[in-house]
Amino acid sequence: MSALSLILTSLLIIFSGQLQARDTGSEQHHDVVVIGGGLMGSAAAWQLVRDGKEVILLEKQDRKYSQGSSKGRTRIARSNNLSRDLWSWLHNRSVSETETLIHYLGDQGFITSMFAVYQTRPVNYMRPLKAADAIIASSERQQVDYKIALTPQEGAAMFGVQLPEGVFLHREFNEYSGTLNPEALITLLHRAIELKGGRIVYNASVSDIQRHGNHYLIATEDQHGSERRYTANQVVSAAGPYTGPLLSELAPYMDKLITPKRVFLAFVQIRPEKYHQLDDHARSQLQRAYPVINSSAATRQGSFYSMIEYSDVQGNPVIKIGGHFQRSDINNLDDVWHQTLSGEELRWSIENTGRYLRMQGVPVNDEDLQLVDDVSCVYSLTRSEVPIVSQLVAPSGEMDSNFVVMAGMSGVGAKGAMIYGRIAANLIQGKSEDDPGYLEAVAAVGVTRLKEDVDQLNINPEK
Ligand SMILES: Cc1cc2nc3c(=O)[nH]c(=O)nc-3n(C[C@H](O)[C@H](O)[C@H](O)COP(=O)(O)OP(=O)(O)OC[C@H]3O[C@@H](n4cnc5c(N)ncnc54)[C@H](O)[C@@H]3O)c2cc1C
Repeated sequence: MSALSLILTSLLIIFSGQLQARDTGSEQHHDVVVIGGGLMGSAAAWQLVRDGKEVILLEKQDRKYSQGSSKGRTRIARSNNLSRDLWSWLHNRSVSETETLIHYLGDQGFITSMFAVYQTRPVNYMRPLKAADAIIASSERQQVDYKIALTPQEGAAMFGVQLPEGVFLHREFNEYSGTLNPEALITLLHRAIELKGGRIVYNASVSDIQRHGNHYLIATEDQHGSERRYTANQVVSAAGPYTGPLLSELAPYMDKLITPKRVFLAFVQIRPEKYHQLDDHARSQLQRAYPVINSSAATRQGSFYSMIEYSDVQGNPVIKIGGHFQRSDINNLDDVWHQTLSGEELRWSIENTGRYLRMQGVPVNDEDLQLVDDVSCVYSLTRSEVPIVSQLVAPSGEMDSNFVVMAGMSGVGAKGAMIYGRIAANLIQGKSEDDPGYLEAVAAVGVTRLKEDVDQLNINPEK
């Protein structure tokens, strides 16, 4: 090959968005590199390969996902949202994006169904009565199928629940509201990405990203310290809690905009000897009681979310409980996953589970409950707790339309993951949609908002 054709080939690789991956000896060139194979990166990579982009997904963990914000088998998925209709739209659109994924896999001969991802269950919301009018109004607007008990008498008659005075119980019954399984969704997304011709490299931790002219140089290391280098026209960064350190050079502000927090989870079960004594009514009360968002306590610290993670072979459910306002600061991001729960955290988990079960008419004492597992997990908070899915803003304030960041997904990211992936894929391709819900979502999570956050940080650097 002449020197001229070599130069032309290199230029083509850099400028064409459609070319296939090329191994140029020490470096592989790709159309789009997606960093991070949790819920967000996987959803973005899937949407990009669907659109015909040539994509490589780099994930630092092995194929088995064990450390990240998407860890676990359940997250609450719900159509109703008290504060903003947008969250309802994000959930509903994610459900329809998941249906598309399931159909694609089915067409490829891979047998699966929506039930692999979503478990439809009544979603319970308990709150002080002053929020009742707002939840009724939002349920109507968001087309939620619901029932609500506003007094202890109604609680007993409608749900067999002993409601405290001044607290309402709202139950949502929409299809695919209940829980979603993040690890199952990640597995299906990875399968679909590969079937569509995308590549996934596990055990590839991105250690460096540099912008060179109109492309990016990306270095990875595996667990043995072996390095690889990639070049890409475009990048999606979806490294979850690791976003701050990963983007320390390209977007040093990111470390301040999003804060990883430790959130503990306790897995509690009724002791088998007690569970076997429960009659059918108590067992079905137990099933209907979850998932729940209980914000009825007088303090934020007293509120919790809880759901059935799985059931053992006897059908005895393992109940997961945690609290958004139980979150704590992190000293070392790599170590936090191995941190055990304190005595106080365990006590809080057992007491709240026991109290809640009794309220639901399940006759158990705290002593009837046993701890079967505990986990320290992490999510990344933005100040407003609204996620970021945006083109990157350089420290100069300039927008980089070839680099999209998905970060700060907070405690609400999972139910919207599939549409966040769609938004990231659209941003990378300079595309949009006409749907008002879509436009509202982009305004909330996109570059205008990111620029405002960065400006705010420059005005108040200590915040
Ligand atoms: C305890 C808890 C409860 C929650 N409850 C709910 C809920 O009820 N409903 C809801 O909707 N949401 C909930 N969420 C939020 C939701 O789970 C998260 O928003 C979502 O999982 C975030 O996904 P992610 O892809 O951004 O992050 P992650 O899952 O952390 O993915 C990031 C990925 O990037 C990889 N990575 C990191 N650094 C690198 C690197 N340098 N190179 C290569 N790969 C890298 C990581 O290994 C990881 O796989 C909860 C979260 C937690 C922790």
